Amino acid sequence: MNKIEHIGIAVSNLEEAIKTWETLLSTPCYKKETVASEKVDTAFFKTGESKIELLGATSEESVIHSFIEKRGQGLHHVAFEVDDIRAEMQRLRDAGFRLLQEEPKRGADNKLVAFLHPKNSNGVLVELCQSVSK
Ligand code: ZN
Repeated sequence: MNKIEHIGIAVSNLEEAIKTWETLLSTPCYKKETVASEKVDTAFFKTGESKIELLGATSEESVIHSFIEKRGQGLHHVAFEVDDIRAEMQRLRDAGFRLLQEEPKRGADNKLVAFLHPKNSNGVLVELCQSVSK
């Protein structure tokens, strides 16, 4: 696995959170994107080599909505950049990790993504992401 590509943070009010993180990081949000399949709005910030991804629910059926109901706002996932997501998924399956999906899916920011079940990684939801050309 390569660098930490981004850290995902679940927020209850995306517009307010964008202002907070623009001030905190002293950098503007460079991209906002809705991932309709996940019912989330995302907002991205660059910070050095990595990014911060804010995640806001667009509906009560969103996983972000239930996450905040259960655990409150805060750290949602850590995403690692990989060169070959399918190979990495197979490597982790062989090592006994459970993946939340069989096949990579299209995520925000032109990425193919897959998630590992947090039970296998000390309670941290881990995302693998591979950049795809536009
Ligand atoms: Zn993410």
